[in-house]
Amino acid sequence: MVAVTVVRGDITEQEVDAVVNAANSELLGGGGVDGAIHRRGGPAILAECRRLRDTEYPRGLPTGGAVATTAGELPARWVIHTVGPVWSARGDRAAQLAPLLASCYRESLRVADELGARTVAFPAISTGAYRWPMDDAARIAVDTVREHSTVVEEVRFVLYDATAYDIFADRLRQ
Ligand code: ADP
Repeated sequence: MVAVTVVRGDITEQEVDAVVNAANSELLGGGGVDGAIHRRGGPAILAECRRLRDTEYPRGLPTGGAVATTAGELPARWVIHTVGPVWSARGDRAAQLAPLLASCYRESLRVADELGARTVAFPAISTGAYRWPMDDAARIAVDTVREHSTVVEEVRFVLYDATAYDIFADRLRQ
């Protein structure tokens, strides 16, 4: 069974097989986790992302999907890019979007299995620029990872700030 752990820190510093990027559909970089990964990982990641746009994903990576590239100069071996949904305060929209957020975790683990990654670090997808409330995002993230069947041995949630860390740590104790 997968061991689910939580740490406070920077996703780009994790010594794991694969780190997950909270990317956007364009796959050409952005702010938050995406910006940090491209900055620290160097140009090799963007070069592969551009190749993916030219080949498999001319219209971008769909929300809820995941795809891997090199991790460039990061300590990890691979970056798995996934696109979270943008939060909507409308209740009916949020209900439609939650499965897409769960899909980010499932698809990333599916890609990790294909790669043979044994340790995978996730940020709190969609909780930054995409504004998903942290407590709901933590519930979806933890439940989805626990329920998913994978050969990954450790899933590590990496939270940038103390509040996010506490929310994920609480959820993990449930
Ligand atoms: P999204 O666009 O999916 O909302 P963001 O990258 O804007 O993605 O934010 C996702 C979460 O990651 C936020 O909670 C943000 O505080 C956090 N975050 C930002 N930079 C880092 C980092 N270097 N390592 C880990 N978490 C980070």
